Amino acid sequence: MLMADILVFGAHPDDAEFGMGASMVKFVRSGASVALCVLTRGESGTFGTPEQREREMKAAAEMLGGELEILSYRDCQVFDTFESRVRLAEVVRKFRPKLVFAPYHTNPSFHKDGAAHPDHTSTGTIVRSALRYARFAGLKEAKGEPWNAEHLLYYMVPRSHSLSLLNDVTKYMDEWQAIASCHTSQLSLRDGKVLQNLRRFREAYGNVLGVECAEAFVSEEPITFNLGMFLNQDKG
Ligand SMILES: [Zn+2]
Repeated sequence: MLMADILVFGAHPDDAEFGMGASMVKFVRSGASVALCVLTRGESGTFGTPEQREREMKAAAEMLGGELEILSYRDCQVFDTFESRVRLAEVVRKFRPKLVFAPYHTNPSFHKDGAAHPDHTSTGTIVRSALRYARFAGLKEAKGEPWNAEHLLYYMVPRSHSLSLLNDVTKYMDEWQAIASCHTSQLSLRDGKVLQNLRRFREAYGNVLGVECAEAFVSEEPITFNLGMFLNQDKG
């Protein structure tokens, strides 16, 4: 059976890699299995055709060493409906992850902030409900065996939001750069400085942690105390 320890949802082909790609590298290199679920082919974006973007996300997933599931939502038409919740619950049931990531569901930022794309926030909303739906044995509309994914974390944290977790990704930034660069059609965003911008976010989060680069996450629920998390000497 196809399973993954970690399931990362993205609305568009580059969301997961641009948003939390270095963490995904770190997870895979530490032995965890990672699956990506991308809802659209990003066909409404300014750059790249759906075919090109599909090739790019396949190349990125292959370089990462993760499974890739591409759904058939239309770009800019990702809405929180019963059908969407059921569809994503089926993906959760298929991969049976312990840990799930989604773009944060509420972003008050202005319309020029890429992280505030309506598809991102709606994906976060749908995933939150889908995890619950995935548990319901009586929900006959959803295919697959019920599954309780224990943890949900959000990436694409709005600038005004407080952070729950920072992941030191300093050692994985070169690999991140290579994987993010698979999205060739998107590299001309922000006047060709998209990756530099994304690196600067990571450097700012790294500063908070006292390391070079970090990626930030939000948890809406208390995280269970785990002494190993505090006594672990391997900070990288
Ligand atoms: Zn996006």
